[in-house]
Amino acid sequence: MNKEIDLLLTPEEAANQTTLKRIAASESGIPAKDIKCLKIIRRSIDARHRPVYRLKVFLSTEEQSLERAKPNYQDVSQKESVIIVGAGPCGLFAALKLIECGLKPIILERGKCIEERKKDIAIIARNKELNTESNWCFGEGGAGTFSDGKLYTRSNKRGNINEVLETFVEFGADENILADTHAHIGTDKLSRVIKNIRAKILQCGGEYHFNAKVIDFIVKDKTILGVKLSDGRTIESQATILACGHSARDIYELFAAKAWAIEAKPFAMGVRVEHSQELINRSQYHSPHYSHLLPPASYSLVHNVKDRGVFSFCMCPGGMIIPSSTEKGQLAVNGMSSSLRNSPFANSGLVVSIKESDAAAFANHGALSLMRFQEACEKQMYINNQIAPAQRISDFIASRASRNLCSSSYPAGLYACNMKDYLPKVVSENLKAGLKVFDQKIKGFISDNALIIGLESRTSSPVRIPRDRDSLQHIELKNLYPCGEGAGYAGGITSSAIDGINAAKKIAETLIH
Ligand SMILES: Cc1cc2nc3c(=O)[nH]c(=O)nc-3n(C[C@H](O)[C@H](O)[C@H](O)COP(=O)(O)OP(=O)(O)OC[C@H]3O[C@@H](n4cnc5c(N)ncnc54)[C@H](O)[C@@H]3O)c2cc1C
Repeated sequence: MNKEIDLLLTPEEAANQTTLKRIAASESGIPAKDIKCLKIIRRSIDARHRPVYRLKVFLSTEEQSLERAKPNYQDVSQKESVIIVGAGPCGLFAALKLIECGLKPIILERGKCIEERKKDIAIIARNKELNTESNWCFGEGGAGTFSDGKLYTRSNKRGNINEVLETFVEFGADENILADTHAHIGTDKLSRVIKNIRAKILQCGGEYHFNAKVIDFIVKDKTILGVKLSDGRTIESQATILACGHSARDIYELFAAKAWAIEAKPFAMGVRVEHSQELINRSQYHSPHYSHLLPPASYSLVHNVKDRGVFSFCMCPGGMIIPSSTEKGQLAVNGMSSSLRNSPFANSGLVVSIKESDAAAFANHGALSLMRFQEACEKQMYINNQIAPAQRISDFIASRASRNLCSSSYPAGLYACNMKDYLPKVVSENLKAGLKVFDQKIKGFISDNALIIGLESRTSSPVRIPRDRDSLQHIELKNLYPCGEGAGYAGGITSSAIDGINAAKKIAETLIH
């Protein structure tokens, strides 16, 4: 007999397999001795009153093989090739799907392999020179590698989220991500997964080129025939997946210069906010007593000020704030964490939705107006290398400059300031309104011991590269598949991966008859 049951358990009960089996037996009516297989298929935390785990558990009285069917990654060395620009989640999942479908991916990545990229990131974190081709956004694994590694997404209509999660597990992620409602990998484990994906692609005969920056396309009669690289090489193919992420401003500039269709796309901008993790645990779990059996608590905050949203974005419990600029003389920050999420800090983006009308001063840039606005704000934040402007939240609310700062996870140095002088008015005023509301939801959110750090500006793409709904090809350029976050069709690791898979399937439909 197979059965699925829902359970509400204390953290202690959920952590103990014997107790879990006993309760599952009593709830299901199946005697414990007859349960041959017990598997948690969904796990979430309900912390409204006191923290409890909500579990969906699969029970069976028969021995069950829990092995998942593995995709058939075949030898594609002699098969038709497909170019993939960018080795982020979108590009890598597209590559794996192409291999499954019997096509050979040629991945072109402007940055370095993970091993080399790690060294460049360590240099940036020490506030030394930024490498504009190898940093927190560019390099093997894309912006997803040294990230927080949250894998949940709202885009379940776009594709099979489980396929993405199962692929992560196949390449080395913990099985827990298949059950957790708020699945998280962490940067240490993500790096290993990405290296394993690389090994599989190469083993199957795919090509993987680092320091391979695409600067132009080979075009004939509005059909993309291949790409041109910055080192003078050209590569041809019948299909090109453009998965270069939302920080590749040079690609948007190329489209604008060639007058190929692109559109301005609203995004969000603000700051990273940082509190002690203890404060967030206390607020969300009500009692610090449970914290050793629960993951560090997170939050999700939203407030609408007139027609504009102020919201938390990419919350990183037990994480750190990092410098994520890709260009010199500009500053952007973001958040990441390790698999253990064991830093004493909780950070989150706190952002305001930005519309095309906010970038009126850049209207002459047409489809690039919001990107130019984003760039100008990052320039305004720049002090020296990766030093970031910061302010105590209580000072920000009181409109006075901070004279000094509390401790922070940000590794490259902070500069105490009045953030209002660095942020566009539309952002600082709406942030202030939002913070006041959030302080009512999380006691102590506005505090002397919490910081805002700028600038959180790479929330999603400020440009869309429009594509046909059915063929997924660019609306003007045949054989070009704009995908992932950079094309404006995904936001986050999982949805970008799904978008890459969808593009690969579509190409296989077209090329394999
Ligand atoms: C610090 C940080 C933390 C994050 N945390 C999370 C999180 O917890 N959960 C989540 O879902 N999302 C997170 N994100 C966002 C997530 O990483 C992105 O949404 C996702 O990586 C987008 O995938 P992508 O493949 O579309 O693009 P990207 O990951 O940006 O990859 C694009 C790749 O293309 C390469 N490229 C660009 N231009 C060229 C060119 N001209 N030629 C060749 N190669 C090129 C880049 O070097 C890059 O490797 C985080 C991002 C950052 C920066």
